Amino acid sequence: MANLLSLSQALSLIEQQLPCAETIATEIINITQAQNRICAEDITSPINVPAFDNSAMDGYAVRLADLAESDSLPLAGKSFAGSPFQGQWQDKTTIRIMTGAMLPQGTDAVVMQEDTEQNPDGTIRFKRIPRLNENIRCCGEDLQQGQIALKKGEKLTALSLPLLASLGISHVNVYRRLKVAILSTGDELVPVGQPLQTGQIYDTNRFCIKLMLNKMGCEVIDCGILPDNPTLFEQAFMQAQQQADLVITSGGVSVGEADFTKTVLEKVGKINFWKLAIKPGKPFTFGQLPQAWFCGLPGNPVSALVTFYQLVQPIIAKLSGHTQWQPSPQLIATTATPLKKSVGRLDFQRGFYWLDQQGNLQVKPVGFQGSHIFSAFVASNCFIVLEQERGNVNAGEQVTIEPFNELLG
Ligand code: AMP
Ligand code: MG
Repeated sequence: MANLLSLSQALSLIEQQLPCAETIATEIINITQAQNRICAEDITSPINVPAFDNSAMDGYAVRLADLAESDSLPLAGKSFAGSPFQGQWQDKTTIRIMTGAMLPQGTDAVVMQEDTEQNPDGTIRFKRIPRLNENIRCCGEDLQQGQIALKKGEKLTALSLPLLASLGISHVNVYRRLKVAILSTGDELVPVGQPLQTGQIYDTNRFCIKLMLNKMGCEVIDCGILPDNPTLFEQAFMQAQQQADLVITSGGVSVGEADFTKTVLEKVGKINFWKLAIKPGKPFTFGQLPQAWFCGLPGNPVSALVTFYQLVQPIIAKLSGHTQWQPSPQLIATTATPLKKSVGRLDFQRGFYWLDQQGNLQVKPVGFQGSHIFSAFVASNCFIVLEQERGNVNAGEQVTIEPFNELLG
């Protein structure tokens, strides 16, 4: 196993070799079209949020100094959200105020309605003395004008886009979408929807990869299925790389007699690395074609998905300018059952984790761990990450888990 690259070595090579975000073209688009796009500049707030002091409660706006003299004040007007109190607030009076309504100038606290009552003469009695600024949302306390609201390299999501809307920002500068060409290789593959002949199987990988690319905001160029023929590989790779920033293939990266991906890549481009100390996914290949980056995924659907998740995901994040991307945090869990593991490679077993009644994180492997068993993946919610040097694991031992992120959601 000495000639195998570790996953962390591979990831740092990728990090060094891929260009930084400054080289990516940008465009300005409407925020309604911007979901899953990557913000290409720091966005500063054009306004204070809140834009004015306003009430956090339905109640009465007062000045503390007035309440020191009397617990009752005459009512001098109303302030509603969208219809502020008009005129000049007079000291020793109170203003009826609603949530979100502008605070009359000169008042310095809001007493919630439940802490007041109306006296028979119509004045308002305050049952308790509020603190200074109690129930007041102060101007700029959320964001100050000029403060960074969203960082460059952040993905625009259902959380961040409404923030821009709340600031009145209708257009945003984003990196252009990464163009990714995908193709499946294998004489045995048939597109879904066609009948299977003897020895044929359905092409799962292209569909799976397309779904994940959509999640990552990429523009997908589907180059179909390629028969195991080096001449056709060469033609297809060269065509794909003219249209795309990244070419992703699956299958044909092992050492079988019909595995042509590597030899063709070597001929028309360059292999940056091949063969990793991970399981599944050992034959993952990273390289370059004259005008595009290249990722060769293994053919088994489980291996294809695991290597996409662990390697292609950070590659796409970097090429898309998504510099704020982070792998999901790894957690420690107790394995409820023994785990089979041989020393030598970093294992990504498919697992299911849950919190037991004592609040401890437990995990168990899901089904048979063969890289051709895709159905078990569907029942899993995390990878059980078993270190390269680790052997078999007993029930009750602690293991690292990596909960799936939104890519598989
Ligand atoms: P390969 O890496 O080409 O040797 O393929 C390894 C295994 O994955 C073989 O059993 C292939 O039939 C299978 N396989 C390859 N590509 C796909 C695909 N696109 N969808 C489903 N299975 C595939
Ligand atoms: Mg094949």
